Amino acid sequence: MQQGEKLYEGKAKILYATNDPTLVIQYFKDDATAFNAQKRGTIVDKGVCNNLISCALFQYLESRGVPTHFVRKLDDRSMLVKRLGIIPLEVTMRNITAGGMSRLLGIDEGMVLQRPVFEWHYKSDPLGDPLINDDHILALGAATPQELAALRSQSERINQLLKEYFSARGIDLVDFKLEFGRLATGAGQPPGPGQGTILLGDEISPDTCRFWEQGTRRKLDKDRFRRDLGDVEAAYQEMVKRVVGPAGSSTAATASGKPTAV
Ligand code: 5GP
Repeated sequence: MQQGEKLYEGKAKILYATNDPTLVIQYFKDDATAFNAQKRGTIVDKGVCNNLISCALFQYLESRGVPTHFVRKLDDRSMLVKRLGIIPLEVTMRNITAGGMSRLLGIDEGMVLQRPVFEWHYKSDPLGDPLINDDHILALGAATPQELAALRSQSERINQLLKEYFSARGIDLVDFKLEFGRLATGAGQPPGPGQGTILLGDEISPDTCRFWEQGTRRKLDKDRFRRDLGDVEAAYQEMVKRVVGPAGSSTAATASGKPTAV
């Protein structure tokens, strides 16, 4: 697979074209930002950790019938993915109160919710990804009612699968963010609302999830960076160990929901 021109550079990743117009390379950087890029830094080898963890999780979800953009791992920092027209929505799923939900409702972090909470956020850096509802999305024509129903049911299934996966590794999945896109069929215009198969895109990593160690509630995710808790690199490395084994070997990234002995 030949790496082509840079298509897009975000806060944590770069997308490169390939010689196949339907495939792109997703490269993970060590750059870290928080609070809408007001806080910036570097987390050594974060890109490697997030790539290895995301590769393993996409493989696991695919093995359970969840359609994702993942094609294969290319190297420690990059994966080959299907080209998507990203839907400008972020889904947040919550199992335990933290972060935005605690702030929104003025409640303590750490309450186990009686059922998972599903939220839509409008993907906009200048606006800080505001919370929105179905009516906003439909009124703006950003997605169709069928797409919203599919996104919601896929997100709920992903939450169930990931909760089981992490629980088997001694981790509580507190909350996480997902992004979806519509599968592009060529290099032309990306598909619009109601067109193209919907696939899970982006990444699933300590940047986009809150992971708490069961029992101790030790934070093993980007909150260590956001909140200056220290031991940031160690937390990312610990999550690699829990997900893909001590060596970060992709051979350990099996489709199994159970930890792999490495
Ligand atoms: P909250 O809304 O509580 O800030 O975030 C909920 C969950 O979604 C957390 O696990 C957080 O890491 C993730 N999340 C929400 N928005 C973003 C975002 O813009 N970037 C990243 N990396 N993660 C996000």
